[in-house]
Amino acid sequence: GGVDLECEMLVLGAGPGGYSAAFRAADLGMKTVLVERYATLGGVCLNVGCIPSKALLHVAAVIDEARHMDALGISFGQPTIDRAKLKAHKDKVVGKLTGGLTAMAKMRKVTTVRGNGTFLDAHHLQVEETAGTGSEGTGRKQVIRFRNAIIAAGSQAVHLPFMPKDPRVVDSTGALELATAPKRMLILGGGIIGLEMGTVYSTLGARLDVVEMLDGLMQGADRDLVRVWQKMNAPRFDNIMLKTKTVGAEATKDGILVRFEGEQAPKEPQVYDLVLQAVGRSPNGKKIGAEKAGVNVSDRGFIPVDIQMRTNVPHIFAIGDIVGQPMLAHKAVHEGHVAAEAAAGEKSSFDARVIPSVAYTDPEVAWVGLTEDQAKAQGIAIKKGHFPWTASGRAIANTRDEGFTKLLFDAGTHRILGGGIVGTHAGDMIGEVALAIEMGADEVDIGKTIHPHPTLGESIGMAAEIAHGTCTDVP
Ligand code: FAD
Repeated sequence: GGVDLECEMLVLGAGPGGYSAAFRAADLGMKTVLVERYATLGGVCLNVGCIPSKALLHVAAVIDEARHMDALGISFGQPTIDRAKLKAHKDKVVGKLTGGLTAMAKMRKVTTVRGNGTFLDAHHLQVEETAGTGSEGTGRKQVIRFRNAIIAAGSQAVHLPFMPKDPRVVDSTGALELATAPKRMLILGGGIIGLEMGTVYSTLGARLDVVEMLDGLMQGADRDLVRVWQKMNAPRFDNIMLKTKTVGAEATKDGILVRFEGEQAPKEPQVYDLVLQAVGRSPNGKKIGAEKAGVNVSDRGFIPVDIQMRTNVPHIFAIGDIVGQPMLAHKAVHEGHVAAEAAAGEKSSFDARVIPSVAYTDPEVAWVGLTEDQAKAQGIAIKKGHFPWTASGRAIANTRDEGFTKLLFDAGTHRILGGGIVGTHAGDMIGEVALAIEMGADEVDIGKTIHPHPTLGESIGMAAEIAHGTCTDVP
């Protein structure tokens, strides 16, 4: 058949990576087409990821904070929860942001095409139109010819093969629907996504179990940070099963019956009202006909790229979850900009020293750069500044002094290598530590920077002073 549409830049997938790339390409003067199978732009992050989860976590935090006020002599009583209204609120938040993207695409004259894209060769993409709220194809097809392409097709939740197909078994997308009010919930996988959704459901009334194959929750973060989170969150859980896995499950009238195996497995199968599968996400690399374009895809579905985000085919780039870990929106956005700029002939490359991670739980856990565990494993000599929030006026005034801020410095050069924060608003503060690392700041740079008092952010300056031995406020 013929070609229906031609462009200089084709972007496949409209998540944070894809829309950022498309907007940058358009700003650089390229005629840009953005292909997305779903009705709204924004991908996983805006529609079923970062944003809706935070809308619900905000509500959970308000409820938890109100409960916390009892001890201060302020009582609000039990909250009544209108799930339909709460879901409508969450959908409105998502709608505002995805609607904003549509407007921005129009403003930049980015052509959006709704449909499922597969490569025909290195210069042609076939798009089967999709309709409705899902990604069902209508059978109508068109062909787009492109000079350059950016693959931003993202990832999807991993489903365990033995899990029954049942409305009581959900992934994060299903959990965000708030369709049921479970009393007993199992979280499969002790990572950030599972623990964030668990936080929401537990505040809304569920008792939690979590099962994790590895020896600790929130892998990647230093254990001292996680310990604080775990102590504060212990009341939400009946069972935290580490070094344990699920080996079978069946749907029964009373619930989903799950069998476990491993060090902390209960002897009897357990019954749950809701099972959340949060065992990871797999890249969509094998679902887009990449091989027809000559683009290499790994066995697991990742697309290898160089520092300019180029695949092995020089005019085809790939960005975001589909190129590898960490699967985070802020990484995808930066990669999107690099790819668009590189395609436009600029010398851009992805050279971020660090990418911050945040669990938006209560308290929040945030970390960036080198961790203490990594320093130990790699034999790097570090100097640590550890500031406990029991010495922070603001944290005490907030009645939330369980947290701490720690910074890790190179013992020789005194430059900052990494940092971790556990406590309320940790995620909002970790960006300063990332900036310090990017700028090559040392203990004195950070310690002598005047931070506003009284703030939680001060704890970063204090941690630097502690490392430097000049902190007078903490014993
Ligand atoms: P995606 O967002 O996955 O977008 C890919 C897009 O491509 C999708 O819209 C998809 O429909 C489309 N697509 C795929 N194949 C085709 C095709 N063949 N044709 C047409 N369209 C196609 N990250 C954070 O940084 N912070 C958070 O707080 C956070 N919270 C999260 C919470 C949850 C519950 C989940 C699931 C994820 C969360 N993430 C978070 C991760 C974040 O959502 C992803 O890292 C991010 O969305 C990746 O962006 P992307 O552009 O690579 O791909």
